[in-house]
Amino acid sequence: MAAVRFFKRKGVEIFASDFGNPPDKSLQELQNLEVSYETGKHTEKIYATDLILVSPGIDAYHPILIEARKRKIPICPEIEAAYHFCPSPIIAITGTNGKSSVAALTAHLMKQAGLDSRLVGNIGIPLLEEIPTLTPQSWAVMEVSSFQLETITHFHPKISCILNITQDHLNRHPDLNAYIRAKARIMENQTEKDTAVLNKDDPTTRSLAARTKAEILWFGEGEIYLNENKIIREQGGAKIVLAQFEKFQLPGKHNLNNLTAAAAVCHAAGLTSPIKGIETFTGLPHRLEFVKVIQEIEFWDDSKATNPNSAASALKSFNSPIILIAGGSEKGLDFHPLTEAAVGKVKALIALGKENSKLLQAFSFLEKEAVFETTEMNQAVFEAFKRAQSGEIVLLSPANASFDLFHSAEERGDQFKNSVEKLSRGEWR
Ligand code: ADP
Repeated sequence: MAAVRFFKRKGVEIFASDFGNPPDKSLQELQNLEVSYETGKHTEKIYATDLILVSPGIDAYHPILIEARKRKIPICPEIEAAYHFCPSPIIAITGTNGKSSVAALTAHLMKQAGLDSRLVGNIGIPLLEEIPTLTPQSWAVMEVSSFQLETITHFHPKISCILNITQDHLNRHPDLNAYIRAKARIMENQTEKDTAVLNKDDPTTRSLAARTKAEILWFGEGEIYLNENKIIREQGGAKIVLAQFEKFQLPGKHNLNNLTAAAAVCHAAGLTSPIKGIETFTGLPHRLEFVKVIQEIEFWDDSKATNPNSAASALKSFNSPIILIAGGSEKGLDFHPLTEAAVGKVKALIALGKENSKLLQAFSFLEKEAVFETTEMNQAVFEAFKRAQSGEIVLLSPANASFDLFHSAEERGDQFKNSVEKLSRGEWR
């Protein structure tokens, strides 16, 4: 819809095609804008055009796009169109896990320094929507997925950042190498005048450094690192304190890594030290978000953990025994990192999914009585609560996508919070 609005204002003739069923609100807006459209199907009408603009949700190998290439119709991903019109420098952040968190934190820290930073893309407002109000002095801070990067041609961020690369989305990319190649494309149009912020601790990310002309700024075991509550920049033997903070509100080592990455990006953007505002960043919903304490049992919502590595990082963030609610639709991923983090820490598993065999296999170290299967969130929460003792943790960190039982990971997290609320009011089903 952001693309429709943007190009309509430019006087472009538009035809919109959605294979699903968009909300009435969107259909109403299309009618108001006098844009013709089809829903519930894609027809031949799609090809009667000079250019196809593709939503990031559409697979690069979708039969329509294959056919469009045969017919020599130019295809433009939404991110490419937005880049073309964007007057501001772009900070593009990718990685398997932590993109949204780091983009949000970076935009927050830049704002605290008085800069006009805009969080755009999947979590903020679509970049195309923001363009009319952006200036060359603004900064567009965006999270970029492998799907978006797969089809870029000219997209060229001033600062790119790759946080980490582990297995994900193998249901959509042909293999892990294709996924890594897609991520590396974030730096491929960058020049010597740009910066690539890379994670030195992540072997796959490290191996990609040769693929860019951009100046590389390493974080982790690199030039920018964390030392207790200081972020240090080391250069030619000299050490500068980029930031010193009293308290960072987000739990877990992975969030400290994200903080270091965000500080490195801010440094590349020219923020002077000390970088301020770390204490006031409260995190994003559904990313290891604290929900409530009931009878001294803590409830945490990490619904956005949709792969085994992100769920593993949540488990590593706690020292107390955990009752884990996990499961969902599977993406062809290796569950060993999750098992490794879970042994000795997860005392019970509530498998919340239509098909749990792979998950159950990963938790085969648990006794039979410590595992419960359900397809219903209320029941999952109540069963987890029954198994928890004071001082323990009930954690929703599914390690899988949400689409078997929910429309989205957000909906799954919201249902979890509702069930916890019900539980706190003593409303058992
Ligand atoms: P993305 O936008 O890449 O999906 P999010 O910031 O939305 O990342 O976080 C998704 C999940 O990954 C959440 O469960 C979060 O707790 C976890 N996560 C965030 N940062 C990291 C990291 N650096 N390493 C591993 N897991 C992470």
